[in-house]
Amino acid sequence: MSFSSLGLSPALVHAVREHAYTDPSAVQSSAIPAILAGRDALVSAQTGSGKTAAFCLPLLQLLHSKPRLSARTVQTLILVPTRELAAQVGETLRKLAQHLPQPTKLAVIFGGVSINPQMLHLRGGADIVISTPGRLLDLLEQNALSLSNVCSLVLDEADRLLDLGFSDELTRIIALLPEQRQTLFFSATIPAQVEVLAQNMLRDPLRIAIDTIATHAPDITQRAIVVDVKQRTQLLRHLIDTQKWSRVLVFVATKYAAELVAVKLRRAGINAEPFHGELSQGKRSQVLMDFKASRVKVVVATDVAARGIDISNLPVVVNYDLPRSSDDYTHRIGRTGRAGEAGLAISFVCADSANENHFRLIEQRHQQKIMREKIAGFEPTDIPVNAVAVDTDTNGGIKGKRPNKKDKLRALANNSD
Ligand code: AMP
Repeated sequence: MSFSSLGLSPALVHAVREHAYTDPSAVQSSAIPAILAGRDALVSAQTGSGKTAAFCLPLLQLLHSKPRLSARTVQTLILVPTRELAAQVGETLRKLAQHLPQPTKLAVIFGGVSINPQMLHLRGGADIVISTPGRLLDLLEQNALSLSNVCSLVLDEADRLLDLGFSDELTRIIALLPEQRQTLFFSATIPAQVEVLAQNMLRDPLRIAIDTIATHAPDITQRAIVVDVKQRTQLLRHLIDTQKWSRVLVFVATKYAAELVAVKLRRAGINAEPFHGELSQGKRSQVLMDFKASRVKVVVATDVAARGIDISNLPVVVNYDLPRSSDDYTHRIGRTGRAGEAGLAISFVCADSANENHFRLIEQRHQQKIMREKIAGFEPTDIPVNAVAVDTDTNGGIKGKRPNKKDKLRALANNSD
């Protein structure tokens, strides 16, 4: 299947070719014709599936096929959960729109930076607004824009928007939109909250489910290394040195750990930067830019970097701390092996039963078994507590979260005889 057979205009087909998209991805093949036909859609697809272009391409075409109003009015509104995703969607739109006969005015809006340049930029309107919910409401309160002409609304990473507690903000924004409009939901998963919102907001939606794990599993080699907690930084250094990785994204559990591990790596002469929610937006953007340009070799991040961020040619992701849930695991490892490239995801599994059991639960949820490896010189010396039976019932066990103190005590008691 080709992009032109999906009904896209020559200018858009030209742009996708220029960006080396040879064939449409699965989500693009299903979603583009439906969106062009004006349908609502509920799409479950993760970052890495090509979902951004799946809505950007048809929305650009719809925008440019309508007569332009004399003053620019916001016709397309794209709501995203994070600043990084807003910037990324804006960048994709800019690239894809470049051969269209008329210019497209985009406004990328997010908090954490001064509001004034955004207000100035919105003067005279914008064709497409890409925004996080909070800052959009601030701008609406200041009458910096109107949503009364919006024809198409996209909720990108709808599950994440709700996870981050944007439900009230969404309700307030939706109340300002015209009833007659096209609404598109893109979400990695469709939990009950998203389903309810979709039922309230979508009219006869086309449902598309792209099994990203299955599609992408062959591209990501998953490994698990058993190591003592206190040896992890040394092991990480050893792997960076011996495996000659060009760049590594390392996930840790806390902001403090992100800072600490980055400092330790820097002390060892490795160019590393922390990345977490407490850094200023300017710093976060800078770190990402430097990482993308290979000026920084290692980024040590909390889960704020687990979703939405698209770094091409990222060869390795390391779970220094295990993710809290199997969904987070999927998102983290999905930062590598993108767009058909091969990727490697390594998880450090520490030699205590809680960590081991937690990783087993992640394996069960993913229906796979990953061999535990030991690296010479880093063999664990912590005495492992005997493995504890993990409840295979998906509703039982530790619900995909790290076990708490009680879980650990219970596990020890079960194994004491
Ligand atoms: P997304 O799922 O939107 O985050 O996109 C993931 C990556 O895939 C981005 O780097 C896109 O540039 C790239 N991409 C999107 N569509 C295609 C395609 N049809 N062929 C190749 N790469 C693509």
